Amino acid sequence: GMRRIWKEHLYKVLVIGDLGVGKTSIIRRYVHQTYSSNYRDTIGVDFALKVLNWDSETVRLQLWDIAGQERFGNMTRVYYREAMGAIIVFDVTRPATFEAVIKWKEDLDSKLILANGQNIATVLLANKCDQGREMTNSGIKMEQFCKDHGFVGWFETSAKDNFNISEAANFLVKHIMSTE
Ligand code: GDP
Ligand code: MG
Repeated sequence: GMRRIWKEHLYKVLVIGDLGVGKTSIIRRYVHQTYSSNYRDTIGVDFALKVLNWDSETVRLQLWDIAGQERFGNMTRVYYREAMGAIIVFDVTRPATFEAVIKWKEDLDSKLILANGQNIATVLLANKCDQGREMTNSGIKMEQFCKDHGFVGWFETSAKDNFNISEAANFLVKHIMSTE
């Protein structure tokens, strides 16, 4: 008879970026289909699991949220350990959070390198795009930024309007699977 090999993947994915950019909102929207304009700050590290059916395979995305440590602009190696992908978020209404993206990416790449010597696949999210598109209206500039800083791609997202979040996650998963 026919034999099928079922494969399961577990991917640890980090969600980082400055305080208030919408990391927790993105995760809640993606995993729990909820949104609220006033979350209480969680302290420490929070996890959420999203299970995807990917062709005939199962992908378990373990999303790591941070809370309270954002102000330091960096995380410990222990937190980054064994991550397979990352999402770096900025807030399109606050340019300083875009400048901080470079710092987050450098922190990540300096503390985590895959066995093959590569950096982990990282996507850039321009969140709160429901609030305006001035910062990202030059797609060419954003593409160049991604090339210069080693992002596999970028997406405008809105946790509020549920825009582009699963698209961004799928894009990241595709990248992780292609390099695994
Ligand atoms: P975190 O500190 O990065 O986890 O950010 P939060 O998820 O706590 O979000 C900070 C604030 O921004 C909250 O008041 C959210 O409701 C709000 N927020 C998050 N995502 C969006 C979005 O896509 N659009 C708008 N307008 N507000 C958002
Ligand atoms: Mg948060």
